[in-house]
Amino acid sequence: MILPASLAHPCYYDDDAAREMFEAIRWPDGPYCPHCGVFDTVAPLGGKSMGPGWYWCNKCREKFTARVGSVMERSHIPLRKWLLAFRLLASSRKGMSAHQLHRMLGISYKAAWFRAHRIRGGRH
Ligand SMILES: [Zn+2]
Repeated sequence: MILPASLAHPCYYDDDAAREMFEAIRWPDGPYCPHCGVFDTVAPLGGKSMGPGWYWCNKCREKFTARVGSVMERSHIPLRKWLLAFRLLASSRKGMSAHQLHRMLGISYKAAWFRAHRIRGGRH
């Protein structure tokens, strides 16, 4: 289960909690650069002007958030609403397909397949 079952969980109404949850889903092994795909050159970008959730790659000198490369990248819909949509999709009768996850989260199809199985709670 990657998303909390309870709709009362803060990630469904609190922007910071939603961002942390989304980062954990997108980056289970920690943030990596969406441009060069490496972990060890990435550092959190502090500073009030940027807002939370920004990272910086030392190698390509690009700034990014967990949204980059996902369907949310150019979306103005808050992450918490995306998470709620995922949560509702996951509990729908048909469940969420690996292909949907792959496209929505911008993760590899293989990673999406594993997560889709975990969301479904082992019902194969
Ligand atoms: Zn990079």
